[in-house]
Amino acid sequence: MQRVLITGAAGFLGSHLCERFIQEGFKVEAMDNLITGDLKNLSTLLDHPHFTFHNHDVTEYIDLDGELDHIFHFASPASPIDYLKIPIQTLKVGSLGVHNCLGLAKHKGARVTIASTSEVYGDPEVHPQHEEYFGHVNTIGPRGVYDEAKRFQESITMAYHRYHGVETRIVRIFNTYGPRMRLNDGRVLPAFIGQALRGEDLTIFGTGSQTRSFCYVDDLVEGIFRLHFSDETRPVNIGNPDEITIADFAEEIIALTGTDQKVVYRDLPENDPKQRQPDITRAKTVLGWEPSIDREEGLKRTYAYFKTLSTEELHKSEHKDFADFRKD
Ligand code: UDP
Repeated sequence: MQRVLITGAAGFLGSHLCERFIQEGFKVEAMDNLITGDLKNLSTLLDHPHFTFHNHDVTEYIDLDGELDHIFHFASPASPIDYLKIPIQTLKVGSLGVHNCLGLAKHKGARVTIASTSEVYGDPEVHPQHEEYFGHVNTIGPRGVYDEAKRFQESITMAYHRYHGVETRIVRIFNTYGPRMRLNDGRVLPAFIGQALRGEDLTIFGTGSQTRSFCYVDDLVEGIFRLHFSDETRPVNIGNPDEITIADFAEEIIALTGTDQKVVYRDLPENDPKQRQPDITRAKTVLGWEPSIDREEGLKRTYAYFKTLSTEELHKSEHKDFADFRKD
């Protein structure tokens, strides 16, 4: 039986990856310090005989006995609000955390997939973004802590690949959505759906002319799975190229939820990328992958999940108090 370590396991993407690997018959070692993750996301797996949860901060040395075949480094805060609240932790997990994962991979002879992001392209001047584009990032802006950590993460991953021969894979993840996204992490989809469910106006930042391209989580997991088991060591974009403006997206959420609320406009956050759309030629060519779930279907499934949340959960402003983690 193959054994896989997944960091950030209690987060949105990590928990979906854990589910997939359990379904595929792997033994899953799930690791998370629960700073932004939540054990609730793993509730269906915790009692599974092939699933073990480790409450551990991956920026500290990772001690895991026995053989290990695969590692997925998915631990990281992943929303602009989180980077503002916990910037140092964001930098540490993308630097010290990845270093520990790569060291563990080298020691165990495991193959490692690193979660990178479209944020490595910054506010892109090339559209759509292909993997050869070097990006346009403000190192000292509010998003810099995330963007630069992820860029460093790619560099150290390639260094371990080239100098130590570690089997590495790098996935550049574009905006992804689905069940178990955190309601109040500030990302646009949970923000809009939460507002609709609470009977509040939908907050569009800026004019709403900025674009994003949203990928349903099951498609993303399939792409990551194929990449990990492929021979591709270059970064690969995984995302859905179906691009939409945020203003049109708000209209879609209004139609989906049937809310009577309107949209209101707020200031655009600093360095908010104007456009984002993955060029997925490499994923199509090398992995034979492309998304199969369109936004209409994906949003329906995601909305069904958010409707299961209790009134109390819907009205909690933020389920995490980061105070304990700010000491670093
Ligand atoms: N956004 C918005 N209203 C909100 C939350 C976000 O208009 O209540 C905008 C945000 O400014 C950005 C887009 O939606 O242009 C996507 O934001 P998100 O934080 O989800 O992801 P990212 O900017 O990292 O792609």
